[in-house]
Amino acid sequence: MTVTGQTSARPRSAICSRSRWPLLAQPPALVSYVCAIVAFDAVLIAVLARSTAFHAPHLVMFAALTACGAVCIEATRRLGMPAGVSRDLLSAWWLPVAFLLPPVYALLAPIPMQILLQLRVRATVLYRRVFSAAAIGLAAASASAVFHRSIPVPSHLSSGEGGPIAVAAACAVLFTVLNTALIAVAAHASDPEGRWGEVLWDRERVLLDAVELCLGVLVAAVCGLNLALLLLVLPPVVLLQRSLLHAQLQAAARTDPKTGLLNAAAWQREADTEIVRAQRTGDTLALVLVDIDHFKKVNDTYGHLVGDQVLAQVAATLRTQLREYDVVGRFGGEEFVVLLPGADVHEARRVAERLRARVGRMVVPAEQATVTVTVSAGVAIMNVHGEDLIELLAAADLALYRAKELGRDRVCLPAAPVAPPPRSADGAAGAIP
Ligand code: GH3
Ligand code: MG
Ligand code: MG
Repeated sequence: MTVTGQTSARPRSAICSRSRWPLLAQPPALVSYVCAIVAFDAVLIAVLARSTAFHAPHLVMFAALTACGAVCIEATRRLGMPAGVSRDLLSAWWLPVAFLLPPVYALLAPIPMQILLQLRVRATVLYRRVFSAAAIGLAAASASAVFHRSIPVPSHLSSGEGGPIAVAAACAVLFTVLNTALIAVAAHASDPEGRWGEVLWDRERVLLDAVELCLGVLVAAVCGLNLALLLLVLPPVVLLQRSLLHAQLQAAARTDPKTGLLNAAAWQREADTEIVRAQRTGDTLALVLVDIDHFKKVNDTYGHLVGDQVLAQVAATLRTQLREYDVVGRFGGEEFVVLLPGADVHEARRVAERLRARVGRMVVPAEQATVTVTVSAGVAIMNVHGEDLIELLAAADLALYRAKELGRDRVCLPAAPVAPPPRSADGAAGAIP
């Protein structure tokens, strides 16, 4: 069933309120969780604001650190933002707020930053910004409370003694863990089938968290010495933030957003490099073109969104079945391409057969149904079917064409079919149910 079909069945008023309030279109668990976190944050701000004495030096420091965050956002704004989740180094500014000022400031600090991000960088659905501000604020306020309980005089952080610095580092870790946990629960409520590990653990993310946390402690120590030193700290942090964004944009430009695989241009660049290496060393190398059978029927029967899920799951299945150094990309539409460095004809056939079999066993849930698909594959071997990338692609395409002609759901080489068509219980070759 298509999404359009579902929507048209709803009362008009419900459609209008949902498009105006995107949060209401989310799963009830996510709606309740977001509302609870935001309400808790608002209540805590109100309670702590009443019990905190707002001193002029504190307000000046808060304004200076917020201004540094704003400069960082403005300085990186022109680079653009990669689609999807992107990282920044703004903790470098709210960790000093948490360590050097009372906890209420830590709750307040993310609010102007999120407003600025929304207005100046990328307008996204409002509830995400509000939730981010609340999650960061609560995590930073917790770190702040623990730090102030352990180090009652925050300026000791700038004394050079190991104790306060170690406590600050531990509190920065606490901030990161709490913030990640609050966001992971939201991600899980939004997609209960998603794996916790994907949200919580990612080597690149942990590395960036460590960098952010070190920066936060260093900026806090410098800021405690003399607020004017922020002028010296700001340029390197801006530069770091810009280079981080640059790397994210480069990675995004190489990736196909629907499947997370290399896009066609990036795949071709990497494949060219591997082929030149194989030509130099005399190593074997194989190329496999994989095309989903009757994919148009999947779209026509279940809708494009389910079609997209099938594409993503086929891509994930291919990725998990290949070695780290195999080069796999989305060649276009429902076609994937795999380069197997070091593979001879036997190895390439075996890998292509395995990919075909694994995709055939894959089950994609759709509304009131499950979708299964089969794939056909064309295999070409370096120095047997072609000498360079263009020739190999042409040979694999010819082999794929043969596989389609012979009934699909099979692997072929340019010369002859490799595998007989597998039969299901009723004798038919693999087809979409
Ligand atoms: P065959 O077995 O001969 O390969 O048949 P097929 O239906 O898979 O091939 P055909 O070339 O007729 O149709 C490919 C379909 O793939 C048509 C197009 O709408 C769909 N498609 C291409 N890109 C996307 C995409 O990004 N998402 C979705 N959902 N569908 C896509
Ligand atoms: Mg196809
Ligand atoms: Mg095709």
